[in-house]
Amino acid sequence: MLVNMNELLHKAKNEGYAIPATNIDNEHNLRAAIAAAENRKSPIILNVTPTANPDIEYFGRIAQDLAIRSPMKICVNLDHGKTFSDCIHGLRAGFTNIMIDRSQLPFDENVKEVKAFVAIAHSVGVTVEAELGHVGLGDKYEHDGYNALTQVEEAIRFVKETQVDALAVAIGTAHGVYKGKPEIRFELLHTLRDALSIPLVLHGGSGTGDENLARCAREGINKINLSNDLKRAAIENLVSKDLSGNEVYNLYLLLAEGFKNKIEHYIDLFDCSGK
Ligand SMILES: [Zn+2]
Repeated sequence: MLVNMNELLHKAKNEGYAIPATNIDNEHNLRAAIAAAENRKSPIILNVTPTANPDIEYFGRIAQDLAIRSPMKICVNLDHGKTFSDCIHGLRAGFTNIMIDRSQLPFDENVKEVKAFVAIAHSVGVTVEAELGHVGLGDKYEHDGYNALTQVEEAIRFVKETQVDALAVAIGTAHGVYKGKPEIRFELLHTLRDALSIPLVLHGGSGTGDENLARCAREGINKINLSNDLKRAAIENLVSKDLSGNEVYNLYLLLAEGFKNKIEHYIDLFDCSGK
């Protein structure tokens, strides 16, 4: 069942759990993500990033088709739409949520661009996520991990002015592999959760640690983006198996199995099973 993100995240916010948003870029990991959701009777968000699969209109349609066929509630999300063109392609392709990323612009320009796009997306029933503060790269974490945390007063103004549906916040996570130890600012999370009426999103979930992520899910985050950890689990499942002779035909099945099992782990960790 294909739904927009509000249909998933408002329930998660009311009941205090998080939904995994898994980065997919091919048919194997797409099917694996949906199978994980079906096994755990869980909703799921499928993230498609233009940099990982540039033909977002084609791949987006495949993702939607499989989402429609599934009994689970599934949102197909364009992750990190960096340009206006990316976001409009996402709408035309039928994504049910668009994440518009203008977090590197000055505050007022971020507001202006997000507000304009929200008006367009809402007119066709598509929800929008934006980012305030900036979730940087993990390999630069030791240097600038805390430079761009989300500011509470700015967040309140941002949500009011843009009418965005969900907000990605910078509370100490980073994208990709961390250099240094991630330190989550839970007090900031609590303040943001209490100050804002819309669901909050955590980018850079991979490498953050199960304990931190479970706590985020309990204490105010409703969508957790996962990419690196899932790919690593896929590779680990592959290399742990005997691939001699005709076993090599299982190449993609084994990658998908590792990917799926790790998603099921996160569904349980975020208390999303059965939801
Ligand atoms: Zn991200």
